[in-house]
Amino acid sequence: MKIGIIGLQGAVSEHIEATKRAMRKLGIKGEAIWVGRPGQLEGVNGIIIPGGESTTIGKLMHTTGLFENVKQKAANGTPILGTCAGLITLAKRGDVQVVRTKQPLLGLMNMSVVRNAFGRQRESFEVDLEIPILGEEPLKAVFIRAPAVEEVWGDAKILAKFQDKIVAVKQGNIIAVAFHPELTPDTRLHEYFLRMCQKA
Ligand code: GLN
Repeated sequence: MKIGIIGLQGAVSEHIEATKRAMRKLGIKGEAIWVGRPGQLEGVNGIIIPGGESTTIGKLMHTTGLFENVKQKAANGTPILGTCAGLITLAKRGDVQVVRTKQPLLGLMNMSVVRNAFGRQRESFEVDLEIPILGEEPLKAVFIRAPAVEEVWGDAKILAKFQDKIVAVKQGNIIAVAFHPELTPDTRLHEYFLRMCQKA
């Protein structure tokens, strides 16, 4: 199995490590590779768009040509996991900040996002988050200048909420979470994603 991590900016190496840990846990033989140009997505079974700065990630994906490539892969059923800034890039609609910065959105998920939704007082925090698809035990979720999903529609399904805000969504082959699952030892989300990649 080969998982491509979009490596233009942000928490890339952390995702590579978390993906490798999850592969070991599941006994999957595979690799997690750093992707900086379109050709590198050839033959990947899954794509991760990391957290960082969504304006930068979106614009660089555009200039490198990864933007169209990721869209094609998504349309062909390749599973995609977007975390934090990655969640923002997956959305169809954004708030005033998204509009003002003219950041390109992949528009792959039926959801509208609000950037920096948890305010300046709470720039970063950790919570025990209940995500039923990952089992009964809550997941320690690290939020860093995190976005939230304001609304989902169509076939997008809410996976988790925190303080009435939607923080995890799944739509078909794509999962988006507002937090950073790659920064904690619990690999259940990456494992869930890898199982999606196995089935695809
Ligand atoms: N605040 C960032 C943005 O809006 C996201 C932060 C993150 O990915 N940790 O792009």
